[in-house]
Amino acid sequence: MSVVSITPKISSEKETTERKIFDAIIIGGGPAGLTTGIYLSRARMNTLLIEKALPGGQAILTEIIENYPGFPQGIAGPELMQKMEEQAVRFGLKIEYGEVEGVRIKENRIKIVKINNQEYKALTIILASGAEASKLEVPGEEELRGRGVSYCATCDAPFFKGQKIVVIGGGDTAIEEALYLTKFVQEVIIIHRRDRLRATKILQERVFSNKKINFAWDSVVIKILGKEKVESVLIQNKKTGEEKEISCQGVFVFVGYIPNSKFLKELVKLDKRGYILTDDNMMTSQKGIFACGDVRKKILKQIVTACGEGATAAFAAEKYIEELKGVSYE
Ligand code: NAP
Repeated sequence: MSVVSITPKISSEKETTERKIFDAIIIGGGPAGLTTGIYLSRARMNTLLIEKALPGGQAILTEIIENYPGFPQGIAGPELMQKMEEQAVRFGLKIEYGEVEGVRIKENRIKIVKINNQEYKALTIILASGAEASKLEVPGEEELRGRGVSYCATCDAPFFKGQKIVVIGGGDTAIEEALYLTKFVQEVIIIHRRDRLRATKILQERVFSNKKINFAWDSVVIKILGKEKVESVLIQNKKTGEEKEISCQGVFVFVGYIPNSKFLKELVKLDKRGYILTDDNMMTSQKGIFACGDVRKKILKQIVTACGEGATAAFAAEKYIEELKGVSYE
């Protein structure tokens, strides 16, 4: 079996990007994608990472990360992500910006990713496109988005100084963000659809001892009201059916995430919620295409698990690339 380079000969600088075949293309620049980038670049794989906005994923929207090992006092989300990006770039990772329009496979081995009307080719693809905030899907939410309705406390909290706001959800995100918001606002009411929180115990201890935070248990928001800006929410108690209007200036929604996998429907197997299914080596249903991070179906969504999966995906992808390069196509 002879080892061949399948990078075609190129005649000019301009043709380089168009005709070059990368070893790997990573889609998404959160913790999973950047870790994959560190490992592949360090393994001297010619790797391109494609990111639609700023590298860092959801982690750059997190004020402080307390459970990523190695930082006993915690570390700011943007700082951690900037360090990961620097580390990946130091080893040679290339980064391009744009939203992926589609992915296709040519002759069973070359994967083609289209962004900004340009096609990038690679031997393997690592899908690390993450997830985005779920919507409540209630009247008033879309109309008042950016006018009191928010999905990011770190981004918008300073606009609500001294005001009364509601936070919807009972998971880690809702509770962390509610705690952060108390630094700015006068009062937070957490509206949760059950009578107990899903969030981890240490966050529960903090939220229950915070005097600025009150709760509306067993309740769901059925309408967000306001003319120019949010003025109130209409909630309904799920046990009694009773409806109640709560006046507030801000509505922060943290009711989970949906995976960024729409563009992958025809390419790899997804579960019914849109999460990518993989084997233990992060390989998807499509040979040579791997997935890691929050876009993947799994039990625990954390930066540390995203990084672990990124490293595994990189290692498995490297083996796949080596196997592919070891085959002669003549
Ligand atoms: P999550 O754990 O899925 O929690 C979503 C919350 O929203 C739940 O309390 C859920 O209620 C509620 N909810 C869902 N749909 C709703 C609806 N339509 N109306 C009202 N309430 C609704 O999501 P998350 O908190 O964003 O966390 C996502 C993942 O990231 C989790 O694995 C979490 O552990 C992780 N995370 C970790 C950290 C950390 O370690 N510091 C920080 C943030 C996130 P139910 O409880 O009744 O289902």
